[in-house]
Amino acid sequence: MAALGTAAIVWFRDDLRILDNPALEAAAQSGGPVVPVYIDSFNRSNPWAPGSAVRWWLHQSLSSLSRSLESLGSRLVLRSGPAPAVLRELIRETGARTVCWSCRYGALELAEDAKVRSALIAAGVRTESFNANLLFAPWSIRSSSGEPFRVFTPFWRACRSDPAQPHPPGGLPGKALPSPARWPESLALEELALEPAVDWAGGLRQTWKPGEEGANRQLSGFLQNGLENYPGARDMPAVSGTSRLSPHLRFGEISPRQIWHAVLGAIDTATSARVREAGEAFLRQLGWREFAYHLLFNFPETVDQPLRPDFLRFPWRDSARDLKAWQRGRTGFPFVDAGMRELWATGWMHNRLRMVTASFLTKDLMLPWLSGARWFWDTLVDADLANNTLGWQWTAGCGADAAPYFRVFNPVSQGQKFDPEGHYIRRWVPELAALPVPWIFRPWEAPAALLTRAGVRLGHTYPRPIVDHAKARERALAAYYGLRQPNGIL
Ligand SMILES: Cc1cc2nc3c(=O)[nH]c(=O)nc-3n(C[C@H](O)[C@H](O)[C@H](O)COP(=O)(O)OP(=O)(O)OC[C@H]3O[C@@H](n4cnc5c(N)ncnc54)[C@H](O)[C@@H]3O)c2cc1C
Repeated sequence: MAALGTAAIVWFRDDLRILDNPALEAAAQSGGPVVPVYIDSFNRSNPWAPGSAVRWWLHQSLSSLSRSLESLGSRLVLRSGPAPAVLRELIRETGARTVCWSCRYGALELAEDAKVRSALIAAGVRTESFNANLLFAPWSIRSSSGEPFRVFTPFWRACRSDPAQPHPPGGLPGKALPSPARWPESLALEELALEPAVDWAGGLRQTWKPGEEGANRQLSGFLQNGLENYPGARDMPAVSGTSRLSPHLRFGEISPRQIWHAVLGAIDTATSARVREAGEAFLRQLGWREFAYHLLFNFPETVDQPLRPDFLRFPWRDSARDLKAWQRGRTGFPFVDAGMRELWATGWMHNRLRMVTASFLTKDLMLPWLSGARWFWDTLVDADLANNTLGWQWTAGCGADAAPYFRVFNPVSQGQKFDPEGHYIRRWVPELAALPVPWIFRPWEAPAALLTRAGVRLGHTYPRPIVDHAKARERALAAYYGLRQPNGIL
């Protein structure tokens, strides 16, 4: 508990919500005034400083949090600068004796939080921190030998049988939050300059409703209309078969505990086995997020180093031209290009396409996984260091529980299987919209007359493939087998 009567600061970071926010609750229970604060302390030289799409979302999310706090008679104080110095200033201005926050788990964030904590304690200020953004603290789940897990299934089994299951979410911190006699100065949200100077965010605005209210609405809509069909629909990018909660989770606008208990509730009250199975399948995906954080915490170097060190010797290619074609969605493989264009237009890409496009970059083009991870980092609204690192290393074959390197996604058959009518391709690659199945998946093999009728001029209106998939696959496999040691490490 915070010291009675004196002000308590709530330092918001990736927990931009008022429901089920234990840091806010602890500050509210202290009995003194509550000072909610957000500090723009991003170090621009950090290679993983938030990317452009995340900064756009952050602007909207802070605006939403600020409104929610106002509805509780409070405010969100915005400051910018190094967090330790800003917090010291705020403590001086408000007389706060407690600072509360939700934990973060990346190496740089842990180091910053440790530094802040010791400076505050040295100044006689209490600190209270909470695991509010994960179901299981990343250090709490261990194998029987006490080691962190590297494989998902046993990790998830250990989570599900852990005696400390996620407790039910908390509610509002109260009807109103006590205010300080005098509010400290705040920057205006615009002064944080989070939104792009040149407005490219129209597609993002049309697609998303950032903020806690949007997150809760998204969850209820998914429980009502999506959960039951999740196992079958989750792999089909043309239908809205997944929850699309990832950016909301990224910013902590909703907690995994809220989602977990809502889904358990749906499982408990379900009358059909189908809903129960769908609920379990969905919880398992939340489990992948937990696994990603488990890896980030226990193997922090993996944000830019492969978990499997043998991959340090992999002969990645270097081609600015191929990288650009991939980024722009102009590889000549319609399914890949559709994914990359969905990302550019909406700041999000379906999971199936994340795997297909990442495989195309690392295997067909043999470009380094890190160059793909950095592009995703800048363009995804849900860019999350734990999930992005896991996703890229998994696909590239160099990470935990990775897809074997020799499993190379076929960019044509993946489209045929997961977008059988070609609807997803038609939506994102409109210049091919008049091509029928099966040519829409491989226009370079379509009869010339048919291309003409569909208004497609290869090399003009749509690119020819930048690689021959069969040859590129052989090249990637040869490089991979070249890594093999005499003792057969790979
Ligand atoms: C190369 C690559 C990069 C990725 N980068 C990110 C990223 O930066 N941020 C991000 O949130 N996810 C990332 N993912 C994981 C996954 O693609 C997204 O979480 C998912 O597409 C989000 O959509 P959804 O919320 O509708 O998912 P749903 O299927 O509805 O799943 C619900 C939640 O479970 C979690 N989840 C689902 N699948 C995964 C997964 N494979 N790994 C980890 N968590 C998962 C997410 O938090 C998601 O919101 C990446 C995957 C790959 C292959």
